[in-house]
Amino acid sequence: VSARSPWYVANWKMNLTPSAARVWCEALRAGLDRLQEPVPELGVAPPLIALDTVRQALRGSGVVIGAQNCHAEASGAFTGEVSAEMLADAACRFVLVGHSERRHLFGENDEEVGRKAAAAVRAGIEPLICVGEKEEQREAGQTPEVLSRQLDRALEYLLDLRSADLTLAYEPVWAIGTGRVADASQIEEAHAILRGKLVEIAGEKTARTTRILYGGSVTPQNAEKLAPIEGVDGFLIGGASLDAARFLQVACPRARC
Ligand code: PEP
Repeated sequence: VSARSPWYVANWKMNLTPSAARVWCEALRAGLDRLQEPVPELGVAPPLIALDTVRQALRGSGVVIGAQNCHAEASGAFTGEVSAEMLADAACRFVLVGHSERRHLFGENDEEVGRKAAAAVRAGIEPLICVGEKEEQREAGQTPEVLSRQLDRALEYLLDLRSADLTLAYEPVWAIGTGRVADASQIEEAHAILRGKLVEIAGEKTARTTRILYGGSVTPQNAEKLAPIEGVDGFLIGGASLDAARFLQVACPRARC
């Protein structure tokens, strides 16, 4: 029996103004109120500018809020950046690190991802560490080594892994925002690789309790097929999370907003 309950996380990326965020939260709350089944664990990572609006609008709903990125240092002369300490103080409970857009559009390397994950743990918030192979790496048969390397480096900076809460997201780069979902065997294999690597690095207990989400073009239409795949503990949802009703339907197929 899995010790891990599923978690559904909305990554809005650079979308939704604070006013639009308020409307989204109201729609989500209405959908949650109508739910005839237990509310699953939900998380939302809005742009920083909408964080406080979302915090207030979702107060008491049980939905946790998080951020899409943080800096590796706690404070200092880093114009335009935000630290994990600041996010913790702003009620963030988790932070995405190593999202493929950060890696590929902003040039973040494995070492920075590891330092950011460690900064999050130091600040008392959960790093949601994203890993995934590019299409050419998959075609060259390099997926296992890419995933293992990314995870190794991300965890290298966490001194006491056994006591850190963390979540992983397997997000094949070629499936993010493309409408191309990885197939069941690809997802199952990647999650097994990550779980095996976790056992090796962090021990059985941490590996058993660490959730591994899948991300990449998840929608209400495909979520029911993806959810039962062995090793999938929920989803990280980009495009489909911009609409509160679609986000909730991914988590609860019978929900209406
Ligand atoms: C993401 O941004 O993490 C993501 C999975 O995006 P999408 O759902 O749009 O593919």
